[in-house]
Parts: sequence; C-alpha cells; structure tokens
Amino acid sequence: MTDQTPNSYRNQPDERGHFGQFGGRYVAETLMPLVLDLEREYRAAQADPEFQAEFDDLLEHYVGRPSPLYYAERLTEELRKSAPDGPNGEKRGAQVWFKRDELNHTGAHKINNCIGQILLARRMGKTRIIAETGAGQHGVATATVCARFGLPCTVYMGATDVERQQPNVFRMKLLGAEVIPVTSGRATLKDAMNEGLRDWVANVHDTFYIIGTAAGPHPYPELVRDFQSVIGKEARVQMQDRIGRLPDLLVAAIGGGSNALGLFHPFLDDADVKMLGVEAAGRGLDGNEHAASLLGGAPGVLHGNKTYLLQDEDGQITEGHSISAGLDYPGIGPEHSWLKESGRVEYTAITDKQALDAFQLLCRTEGIIPALEPSHAIAAVAERAREMPCDAIILANLCGRGDKDIFTVADALGVEM
Ligand SMILES: *Cc1c(COP(=O)(O)O)cnc(C)c1O
Repeated sequence: MTDQTPNSYRNQPDERGHFGQFGGRYVAETLMPLVLDLEREYRAAQADPEFQAEFDDLLEHYVGRPSPLYYAERLTEELRKSAPDGPNGEKRGAQVWFKRDELNHTGAHKINNCIGQILLARRMGKTRIIAETGAGQHGVATATVCARFGLPCTVYMGATDVERQQPNVFRMKLLGAEVIPVTSGRATLKDAMNEGLRDWVANVHDTFYIIGTAAGPHPYPELVRDFQSVIGKEARVQMQDRIGRLPDLLVAAIGGGSNALGLFHPFLDDADVKMLGVEAAGRGLDGNEHAASLLGGAPGVLHGNKTYLLQDEDGQITEGHSISAGLDYPGIGPEHSWLKESGRVEYTAITDKQALDAFQLLCRTEGIIPALEPSHAIAAVAERAREMPCDAIILANLCGRGDKDIFTVADALGVEM
C-alpha cells in the first residue's frame, strides 16, 4: 500500500490482501497469527527510515545496484533487418533496452527480495531461516543472505528437483545451508512450498519463512513486490536521465511473477507505458506441457492465495513444463491475475523453441548469455519490436544470467559436452 491515490493501479492490495478477487490469506487457523505478525512487522519496517537505509546500503554494496540500463544496439539492428515495412513504407523496429539485473550478486533478481526478507527476519528477532526452492535459484539466494547474516538456513526442495539440479544443491551446501529433499506429492516446487509452510507453523517461535516469489498468503505478495520494485524505480530514473522519457513497452518473463512486478509496478499509473508479461508455453498451450497459469489455467486457491493455477477438471494442481526450471511454478502471484483481469497488463506465452532461439540470438548479437527465463522475454521482445516504429522504446528485464543453463541448452541443441 505504497500509494493511496484513488483509481491508482498501485494502491493494491486492500487491508485483507486482496487484489480485486485475488490474493487474500487462505490459511489454516494455526498459520493466521504468523502472517498477521509478519504484516504488523512489515508495516513498522515500511515506516522506519533505518530499515530502508540498511536495505539500500546492502543493495548498493553487496548486490551491486543500481544495475545498468543498457541499449542493445546490435540486437535492435538485427531485428530491424527482418521487420516488415509500415503501411506507408516506413522502416520498423523499436529500440531494445535491457535492465541488467543479471549482473547482480548471485546472477539474478532473487537476491533483492532475500535481502529485504532477511532484514525483516532480524527485526522480528528470528534466528532460523527456511525457504522453498524449485530449480534452486531462490534456495541459493536465501543461503547466500543467511551466510551473510550468520543465520542457519534450511531449504526444502522436491526430491525430483534435487536430482535434476545438483550444482545448485552443492552451492547451497557450500554456503552452509541444509537441503531437505521433499518426497510428498510429485516431489517438486509445489510440494516443497507446502513443506516450508508446515515447518513454519511448527517452529514459529524462532523461524522466518523467506518466500521466493510474489505469491503465498498476504502480506507476502505485497512485500516481495515492494522489495523487487527497486528494479522499476531505478529503470524509471535511468530512462529519464538517458533519453528524457519513459519507455513505450515493458517486457518481463513470469514464473511466479516477482521480477515482472518489480519492473512494472512503479510504471503502473503511467498510462502511456504498455506492459507485457511472458509466460512459458513449453511445448505448446494446447496440451499440458506448459507453465502458462494465466493463459492456460483457471482461478483456484494454492499456497494461501487465490490466483490462476494450472489444474485439471477436478481442480487437482497439474505439473507445469518449461525448458526453464524457474518458470514452471503451477501458480502465479495474485497481483498478476488482477492485472490481467483489469486489462492493465497484457500477457503472452513463448515456447521452449522460441526461447532457445532468443537465447542464441542475444549471445551472438550482444555478447550476453541470458538465463532461459528472460530468454522468453527476449523472444517476445523480438516479435513486438518488429511491429513498432523505429523511435519506439522497449525495455525488457534481463533478470538472470545463463551460466546455470548451458547444460540444458547444450542438451536441447543436441550438443555433447
Ligand atoms: C526464479 C526466476 C524467475 C521466475 O521468478 P519470478 O518470480 O517470476 O521472477 C525468472 N528469472 C530468473 C532468472 C529466475 O531465477
């Protein structure tokens, strides 16, 4: 609730955590006092300039912010070559700019949120941190801040993911975290998050649960968004400084939706700035092998909030698929569900194949190896840029670097390593 202006897209959620009909706190009675306590402490932290000062200081000196704003000139030129001319024969092809959050410490945006939440944990006197992780990126970012603050860290990870993501499991262990494989359900991210919530209830006296995306019961979706909003706040100032105006279109990839909200939120009331959220279409939206909760799912309740979910006819949560492990969460932050229904943000989906092509395109044109998650955003940028005039500006969030993905890409390209 950073902005109380009526009719603002930025004044959600309401005091019960609702973004329109979405969000809320659908939690067991045992969890309710915990989330209320967290909310009380978050309100106090928001009003405390010392909290903000410490957050800013760590972002600057530990994370390496502000991240650069970069004009991708060669990519822009490359896309212009294949852009059809406009109706009056004019050249087409928008300028493509990137917010370089892949340059953050640990290589993605997740650390912004982890810094904010561990400062809250310390404020609340908690001495033990827990987290869930899917591919391991949030687990690594959480283990990182726990090492930095000297707090013990337990990370719940689906047993299937533990098998698939050994390098990240080892990273977490190097950083001093304990990784607990979860064997319930399908043994992936959804189940790890359930296990995290169970641990939290059982150990509330000393434990803080750091959630990795803008989902979960209120106030998590709001506070994760607020911590990630540093991305959009910086970008707004940087754009004004560099070109004296705001971009025409913002683009970001969506798993649970935290990096996208971080970029979008500070611009939501700028009516001229259009926004595009990019979900993972996997092997196509027709079957079940995708992770597009908004475009291919339906509203339901999961992990304490109401939102769009991948589910079958019986309401059972289904397993998403994406070439990018960070995008296959079967839900999406409730604020996105509301932004979709309100029409403020447009959503699209990009297939594995399109993301792979965009990954290689960025490597070759800009000398940047992106993560597979933002490769989905880059693919959507390539489509849109070709339809826009040359003086239009697209700003995409380059939310992670691709070192972690080179084995997956080699495999997909049929390269033996
Ligand atoms: C985790 C992750 C995502 C997906 O999470 P969001 O909450 O949707 O941002 C996207 N990109 C990268 C690089 C990630 O690590």
